[in-house]
Amino acid sequence: MTGLKVQLRYRSELTFDEYVRAKGWLSASLDACPICLPGKCRLQRHGTYMRKVPGVAFVARFLCPTTGITIGMLPDFFASRMPGTLPDLEEAVARAEVAPSVEAAANEIRPADVHDAVTLPTAIRWVRLRLAIVHSLLATVRGLLPALLGRCQATVLSFREQLRTGCALVALREICERHLHRLPAPLGLVPPPAGVRLRGKRRPQSTGPDPPPAQA
Ligand SMILES: [Zn+2]
Repeated sequence: MTGLKVQLRYRSELTFDEYVRAKGWLSASLDACPICLPGKCRLQRHGTYMRKVPGVAFVARFLCPTTGITIGMLPDFFASRMPGTLPDLEEAVARAEVAPSVEAAANEIRPADVHDAVTLPTAIRWVRLRLAIVHSLLATVRGLLPALLGRCQATVLSFREQLRTGCALVALREICERHLHRLPAPLGLVPPPAGVRLRGKRRPQSTGPDPPPAQA
């Protein structure tokens, strides 16, 4: 079996630059297989995979030899399933939110994951797509946490203000930790393959705002 994977949160307060300098992927560790019963599997380090934006960095991987599932340890600053970092993505969206128009924002923002020769129409599409993705994500998160975020607008600026942080998306990795495998990119992490349950994950509590678990 190949290609089965799951992402776990690599709790980290490092910035991208600090992570690269410290080779943070070497410090990622997992005490035990998150899939198998204790003692049933010898979890192995499984090298790294490379990310290229905003510069070359690596993400540590582990392998569960029993199931063939690889486990990527994504540090909190990285966007999931998109290039780049959450702070860079969020900053682009924040600037677009206060710009007089998407065109003006696109003119000003230099997308970090597009080649230097980016044209204005390309940059406009880039900004529109990110606005849509992030605003839709924030609306979903607000629905999950109405007590904390119910009065926010689904914007980066409103979330930053409410959470008193310079990067709402990074803060949400912690705040939404138990929802990460159900949330979309770039906040949510790659969920385990169908039928696989991660150990140590609590079932949604009946009093919480969780949607009912998907039927297998
Ligand atoms: Zn295992």
